[in-house]
Amino acid sequence: MLEKIFLHQKQYALKLRSESLKTRIQSLEALEKAIESHQAEIIEALKKDFNKPEAETLLSEIYPVLKELHFTRKNLKSWSGPRRVQTPWTLFGSQSFIQPEARGVCLLIGPWNYPFQLVFLPLISAIAAGNCAILKPSELTRHTSSVIKKIAEAAFATEHVFVAEGGAETTQELLKFPFDHIFFTGSTRVGKIIMEAAAKHLSSVTLELGGKSPTIVDATADLAVAAEKVAWAKFINAGQTCVAPDYLFVHEAVASSFKKHLIAAIQKFYGSSAEQIQHSPDLARMASVNHTQRLKNLIDDAVAKKAEIIFGGHCEPEKHYCSPTLLDKADPHSLVMQEEIFGPILPMMTFKEISEVIHFINERPKPLALYFYSHSQMNSERILKETSSGGLVFNDSLIHFVNPHLPFGGVNHSGIGSYHGWHGFQTFSHEKAVLKQSFLGKMLRIMYPPYSSFKMNALKTLLRWRI
Ligand code: NAD
Repeated sequence: MLEKIFLHQKQYALKLRSESLKTRIQSLEALEKAIESHQAEIIEALKKDFNKPEAETLLSEIYPVLKELHFTRKNLKSWSGPRRVQTPWTLFGSQSFIQPEARGVCLLIGPWNYPFQLVFLPLISAIAAGNCAILKPSELTRHTSSVIKKIAEAAFATEHVFVAEGGAETTQELLKFPFDHIFFTGSTRVGKIIMEAAAKHLSSVTLELGGKSPTIVDATADLAVAAEKVAWAKFINAGQTCVAPDYLFVHEAVASSFKKHLIAAIQKFYGSSAEQIQHSPDLARMASVNHTQRLKNLIDDAVAKKAEIIFGGHCEPEKHYCSPTLLDKADPHSLVMQEEIFGPILPMMTFKEISEVIHFINERPKPLALYFYSHSQMNSERILKETSSGGLVFNDSLIHFVNPHLPFGGVNHSGIGSYHGWHGFQTFSHEKAVLKQSFLGKMLRIMYPPYSSFKMNALKTLLRWRI
């Protein structure tokens, strides 16, 4: 059945090439309408999947998608037209331009942590660029997956967009087809599997992966403000955010004061006692028992390696619950500092010199995001120039994600390629190089054989002057 749909989409993708821009905009409008009319179901599905608070669903699932739809519709005309570029005088008489064209049929694979927006955001770019798409949402958030299917069916014909529900085996089946582009959001481990499968068909890929995003607080930072921002970014979606602060480096001179601010921020957000926090309607749950058990193991391992729990530390795997947890003096060799945490645990370390932190980051895979809280111009400049990461935010966390003018993506281990706004449109387009020769374009005939000494001299002049 999947193969049949893929083949239909291949045919339809050819038809779409001659459709007008207006048709693409109408498709985006249809998607917007379908999302709006299913809003209550989206909220309910995410509540059922991992107790996601309604406010967080509105803020981090529905709003980014509607905003991207609006931004894309507004700018699509300017993105999709031909872009004139210069032509060297050796090609005198000709004109050159870049024409973005649809890639064709794309496969979009989503994760469970923001199961709604991480399927629809890339879909908006894919549709805007004129593609067909098969979506494979995460099987771990099955309620959201079925709302995604309903929305897609309400907005698109199957040969344009189709939702293939299922687990890894469904993805494996889909990966057998020669997609024109594969857009994957998920773990680095599975990203490698996707890239290997894509190589068989030479399908281009965008990999939006994860990793450990460091957060640094130096002695010049505004501690109370920084603590609230870090706590919000870490515990929204219960830490299951690809760009969540993964671990914390605090300057030793302000470490004890920062810890107090951080604890105060958590209590302000979720309640002052362990019980209140556990029953807070504003704290999401883990998506599975296994995932919660993994977090519990991370805490146990860190404690066995001499880390101190200075807040929280309570996990109930069968209830999918892990409390906001602060681990002081985390050992860099402990599991919590080795793998992506992806939960509400924040290990902390201290530093004396910013060079130590830069060295620590550069010794590890390049992170998806890096957050630096500081008022030191010199230290900020050093972090900007001496580290590499998908994104870098000064004096805040996460918020680069919502600026549609910025590319969102990682580097190497944290990802390949980017999207959002024009960057997403470009990801789902092939930039076709077009050159139009005119009747004046006869100069190059000088380079046709036979190669006389006159032609050789002309060629040598060309080389000498690099013209
Ligand atoms: P995952 O890699 O386990 O799964 C992602 C998708 O891949 C799912 O649809 C799943 O069904 C499929 N899949 C799983 N195993 C597969 C296999 N063997 N073969 C083929 N397909 C397979 O990721 P997840 O647990 O859903 O999400 C968490 C990860 O995603 C974290 O690492 C997080 O950092 C990352 N993430 C990245 C971004 C980003 O924008 N860069 C956003 C959200 C999440």
